[in-house]
Amino acid sequence: MPRNPRYDILFEPVKIGPKTAKNRFFQVPHASGMTNAAPHVRAAFRGMKAEGGWGTICTGACSVDPSSDDSPFPFATMWDESDIRSHAVMTEAVHEHGALAGIELWHGGAVAMNRTSRIAPLSPSGVPWMATHVPFMSAQRPKIMDAADIRDLIRWHSDAAVRAERAGFDILYVYAGMGYLPYQFLLSDYNQRTDAYGGTVRNRVRLVDELIDAVREATHGRCAVALRISLQELRARPSDLAESEAHEVISLLKDAPDLFDVKMDYSASDCSPSRFTAEGSHEPVVDFVKTLTDKPVVGVGRFTAPDTMASMVRRGVLDLIGGARPSIADPFLPNKINEGREEDIRECIGCNICISSWHDGVWVRCTQNPTAGEEWRRGWHPEQVKRDGNGQVLVVGGGPAGLEAALTLGRRGYDVALAEARDDFGGRLLYETALPGLAQWRRVADYRLGQLRKMPNVSLYPASPLTAQDVAEFGAQHVVIATGARWGHQLCAANELPMPALDAPRIYTPDDLAKGVLPEGPVAVFDFDNYYLGSAIAEDLAAKSLPVTYITTAGAAAAWSFMTNEQPHIHAALARRGIACRTLEVVTGFDGETLRLSQIFSNERREIAARSLVIVGRRDGGSALYDELAAQNSPFSLHLTGDALAPGAIAHATYQAHKTAQSIGRAAAEIAPRRDAPFSVRALAPQHLAAK
Ligand code: ADP
Ligand code: SF4
Repeated sequence: MPRNPRYDILFEPVKIGPKTAKNRFFQVPHASGMTNAAPHVRAAFRGMKAEGGWGTICTGACSVDPSSDDSPFPFATMWDESDIRSHAVMTEAVHEHGALAGIELWHGGAVAMNRTSRIAPLSPSGVPWMATHVPFMSAQRPKIMDAADIRDLIRWHSDAAVRAERAGFDILYVYAGMGYLPYQFLLSDYNQRTDAYGGTVRNRVRLVDELIDAVREATHGRCAVALRISLQELRARPSDLAESEAHEVISLLKDAPDLFDVKMDYSASDCSPSRFTAEGSHEPVVDFVKTLTDKPVVGVGRFTAPDTMASMVRRGVLDLIGGARPSIADPFLPNKINEGREEDIRECIGCNICISSWHDGVWVRCTQNPTAGEEWRRGWHPEQVKRDGNGQVLVVGGGPAGLEAALTLGRRGYDVALAEARDDFGGRLLYETALPGLAQWRRVADYRLGQLRKMPNVSLYPASPLTAQDVAEFGAQHVVIATGARWGHQLCAANELPMPALDAPRIYTPDDLAKGVLPEGPVAVFDFDNYYLGSAIAEDLAAKSLPVTYITTAGAAAAWSFMTNEQPHIHAALARRGIACRTLEVVTGFDGETLRLSQIFSNERREIAARSLVIVGRRDGGSALYDELAAQNSPFSLHLTGDALAPGAIAHATYQAHKTAQSIGRAAAEIAPRRDAPFSVRALAPQHLAAK
């Protein structure tokens, strides 16, 4: 299909200082969890996006010195010569497809607590970066930088820039955002200095200006220099000289970098979940930048719709369409637009499992793209799979796992039959995506169904609840059981041991609500699953005008959703909907009128009135169908996958199903993962550590 002329504008080249990006698709720096210890994994992950048409591909944050040590979070380094080779593998993979390679030189300041290097963290004025979440808290406060520290910081950036150029990077970032050190100099709350680097906005901008100059001079103007800057707080601050401090800062720096990369200030607003934030949510904060500078501007906003992207350029908001999550979910997004295949885009659902991977300290994972992070280790490709399938496969269950298994097996060339008991495909998504804010998650099913319907070798059978006898009679060579998991009625004890179910009326699980049960109010939602669902159900019931109390064993609502940046938004949503939120409590009894609660540490007891109890707790996988088939001496190979194998987030189901589909009919050696290893790292030179 030819490209839609409406999108021609997205394929125009853009000059970025001495370099030219071949199009406007710009993969901005984003965390991947891939450190220098896994150079080939990282290169393949980034290179895949270049193959998919992104004109510029950047690393994630890359520390310029051991005084910026983010452990236990994963981060890349450009500390000395021994780091160059590991990055060069990535730039080669990117250049192979005609894309530019960018590196985000990074110093975390008071955000990076140097837990491994144990160097005193640096800050403009000794003010710690606010941390409301335990993983980001520290028992250490930063030191106040003196003049020598500032000189060091500038030198570290210059030295890292020289190495970065040698590693093959085209664009070198100075990073003044997200609480990191140069950003702290911009904000008066963190910068209370009385020297030339503090006080007026002009003084507070000085360090960033000097860093940009230093990076440019170090590479003699051969590389483009980008400034990544957070503008949310600055824009909220009035200025005597401009519309806001953000306007003043950009005006002062308007000619300094070759590219402005503009963003929000906090992970939860910058990488905001779709449950609470729409596509293009950064625009009201960053829309003014292009009015103040002639330099190109890139920004993000979970752009997945080509019309939104084209409009950003046409309306003069952005020159380059920044993508982090959309590039993970679909590394081939630009090529698909270029080929007039917009309907094939695997749209990001905004679930933020990718960011949770970084919080977990592991390589990036994606709900929509199960191949993300596995390009090198398992040789998976988001669009292609070896067409070696021969014979017929029956997939039972049409939830995320069954759909993914059917898609990958279909692409492998198998004749695939996908049977789903219900009238519609989507499994758990059918109910969950009807809850407040979760509609975009339906894309997990929509994308796969859209692809499957185009495949002549795939047959879809809705309204087909299969028995073991049905499966045996079908006669396929391979059978995949993806029948999902069930929510249990069991409670949990203060010591987190599972407790038996209560015998009382009106006790429900999410499965009951999915069948259409509307509880009587007041309703108590007891959540010890601790991810999104309990809070989403509480929101839904409150939206249906029921009085709702949300109770959790954890110290915060939806505690694990901190990992996906949802938690602050969830607390706000519960408050907005008038839902009482009780933390650190377990349900110990319920008789249909009164709910008994106990504080998990003090055992203090309380009672609240409730007519119904919804338990969002234990989820059990397993499959009676699988067990029955496994007990028979069947002539087909039998595979259990998705939530039926091990219940979890949708990302785990699509991943397991993809893995199952890749393994069928293949020898163990063919699917064995590869193990990456770092290039040899020399000990740091003594002079490098001298000044700490
Ligand atoms: P997963 O996340 O692993 O895909 P889901 O619970 O979302 O799990 O989806 C499982 C799907 O399997 C549901 O749509 C359910 O209706 C379907 N299913 C369960 N048992 C059968 C069966 N015996 N025959 C056909 N479909 C089934
Ligand atoms: Fe998008 Fe979710 Fe994939 Fe992240 S994990 S890229 S938010 S679909």
